[in-house]
Amino acid sequence: MTAQIPFDNSYVRLPPSFYVAMSPSHASAPRMLRFNRLLAERLGLDAEGLDTPEGAALLSGATYPEGAEPVALAYAGHQFGHFNPQLGDGRALLLGEIVAPDGARFDLQLKGSGPTPFSRGGDGRAALGPVLREYLVSEAMAALGVPTTRALAMVATGDPVFRDAAVPGAVLTRVASSHIRIGTFQYFAARGDRDALRRLADHAIARHDPEAARAERPIHTFLAGVIARQARLVAQWMAIGFVHGVMNTDNMSISGETIDYGPCAFLDAYDPETVFSSIDRDGRYAYANQPGIAQWNLTRLAECLLPFLAEGTDAAIEEAQGLLAGFAEAFNAAYIAAFRAKLGLVGEDEGDARLVEDLLSRMTVGLADFTLTFRRLCESAVDPAADAEVRALFQDPDSFDAWAMRWRARTPREETSPEDRRAAMRLANPAFIPRNHHVEEAIAAAVEREDFGPLDRLLKVLSHPFDDQPDAQFYAEPAPIGGAPFRTFCGT
Ligand code: AMP
Ligand code: MG
Repeated sequence: MTAQIPFDNSYVRLPPSFYVAMSPSHASAPRMLRFNRLLAERLGLDAEGLDTPEGAALLSGATYPEGAEPVALAYAGHQFGHFNPQLGDGRALLLGEIVAPDGARFDLQLKGSGPTPFSRGGDGRAALGPVLREYLVSEAMAALGVPTTRALAMVATGDPVFRDAAVPGAVLTRVASSHIRIGTFQYFAARGDRDALRRLADHAIARHDPEAARAERPIHTFLAGVIARQARLVAQWMAIGFVHGVMNTDNMSISGETIDYGPCAFLDAYDPETVFSSIDRDGRYAYANQPGIAQWNLTRLAECLLPFLAEGTDAAIEEAQGLLAGFAEAFNAAYIAAFRAKLGLVGEDEGDARLVEDLLSRMTVGLADFTLTFRRLCESAVDPAADAEVRALFQDPDSFDAWAMRWRARTPREETSPEDRRAAMRLANPAFIPRNHHVEEAIAAAVEREDFGPLDRLLKVLSHPFDDQPDAQFYAEPAPIGGAPFRTFCGT
């Protein structure tokens, strides 16, 4: 059987300054490590034909799928606040685009497919560990209901890559609504290329905000759309304790999907100052800083679009400020809605924000596990005796009791029954997140011992994060207290 991918490419129809056309590098011995059949079926791809040695060759770049027009995309970006006018796909190629049966358009990207003109001295490769991490965490995020790029396949190249030592190389096939980043706009803005900016905006509008094309002021509507999507996305991150770790403007997608999983990780104990990435020394991308950073990044996007917002700089800045003010509004609304849902509150009460903040600050002091606190609280909704399991998560259990009294004073004003409240809370509070120690263990088993058992077990549990899975309790538990603080190292 010949594996076919029905490409329908649009980005390569944009001007040549947007990308560099080139073939992926050779892979010596491509081997399919994991193929995401459910995703392939959703995308209308031939899962049977692709989950084969031939598919491994296509998805490692070893052979050239028919209809593919591989390109490395140009983009710029602020990295930790410092502008770099030229980043671009240094270790990835957009293989092409497909249109799913429901009409949605997706990029298929090979990550780790060899050097490109944007590699800036890097080897263009990806090590198996980070590829596995992105596969696992992005699929977990999708199951948690968070907008994200997806992982279609993971192929071993058969070639070593050299990091601290020689490690196995791999290629991730990433599926994204697009790979247009804030940094893509910055690339053309930095060059003063107004025509390219307009072309890019029109392309992004057609892909992500088609209704903006018909609006009175398309660029306004588009920018407002990007701002609203990012606000909702970051609120969802906060609600599951996700720390992206490297929110550079080149790692923020216009589509509002989580993209570029590098040093990301999930909170265990709730601490808003949590930073996992070893390179984020000043805590720029700490958990609690994420909304502010998103707004900072969106301000950089608005700067790129100033020429289209109004005649004259002052007027344009005023327009931009008006739109950016919408970020805080959209974020606060999405954040309180998410945490209301976590507490099982359907109605809206003025004091809800304080009720949420009160619990979170008690959790910070009590070093309470973020995910478990909210999950166990679901039972407390029907049975105060279940409080014992929640309070046990606090170093000072009495502190939880004081908060629980406030919560119970609030719930009688709700129209829902305790049983309905519990059911709703169980859909807002996952039992399972990719716990850092389990992720590390799954990676180590695969990389060091070629044992993919732990990865498969973890993937399976994380594909139903809101279900109780009694034989998977092991995966719900935080790392034993007393270990060194968890650190992540850059994804390369
Ligand atoms: P990231 O940390 O993945 O967001 O990447 C930041 C920039 O560095 C992007 O332009 C990447 O393409 C580039 N880059 C990261 N790792 C490599 C690598 N191993 N080889 C070449 N370029 C890389
Ligand atoms: Mg990146």
